[in-house]
Amino acid sequence: MKIIGLIGGMSWESTLTYYKLLNEGIKKRLGGLHSARIILYSVDFAPIAQLQTEGKWDEAGEILSHAASSLERAGADMILLCTNTMHKIAPQIIKNCTIPLLHIAEATGTALCHYGATHALLLGTKFTMQEHFYKDILTMHHIKTCVPNQSDTDRINTIIFNELCLGIIKQDSKEIFLDIIHKLKKNNPTIDSVILGCTEIGLLLKQNDSELPFFDTTILHVNEALNNSLSATN
Ligand code: GLU
Repeated sequence: MKIIGLIGGMSWESTLTYYKLLNEGIKKRLGGLHSARIILYSVDFAPIAQLQTEGKWDEAGEILSHAASSLERAGADMILLCTNTMHKIAPQIIKNCTIPLLHIAEATGTALCHYGATHALLLGTKFTMQEHFYKDILTMHHIKTCVPNQSDTDRINTIIFNELCLGIIKQDSKEIFLDIIHKLKKNNPTIDSVILGCTEIGLLLKQNDSELPFFDTTILHVNEALNNSLSATN
């Protein structure tokens, strides 16, 4: 079993989910007392979030590049960056690494293709929804994306950073997400899927909240890591 290196803490609420799902996945696949081989480098999210807000992505990239190199030196065979947003600077983060980074948007695009989805509603931070780094990878998988308007983007972004990343789960916020999903589906009937493109959204939304299929990026990323960890090759 290969060792999974996690860059976590963004936020630690979702890193907990990664840790739990990775161990549950190994237990399910190998049985008995088997558990995942994991090395976790968990950062302090406050300065990273501040750098995001200030647009100082290079500085955030240096912190996370140090984390990635530390994981490799410690013996990790692969890296999982436990956030969608910071994949914006994935190349910088692994610039000094020889082990692979399992890209969360690649895992998501592959899962949507297997399902047969072609038009996804992408929900995440304002960076993930509005910039190109994430949507471009989905486009390469022939997935068309649709995102909320500016005011709904702001509402979602606020819920992510002021509630979900702090472990605050509110019914009102769930209704806001579901209203936005329903509104967009009504205006774009060809939408056939919803990407939970922020690793904390799965803490708030569950599949039985909607008729549209949800693609939870945390789960898809974990599955990619499990496959890789148990495969013979890199
Ligand atoms: N965990 C979140 C994500 O998946 C947001 C936190 C961050 O900005 O890294 O994008």
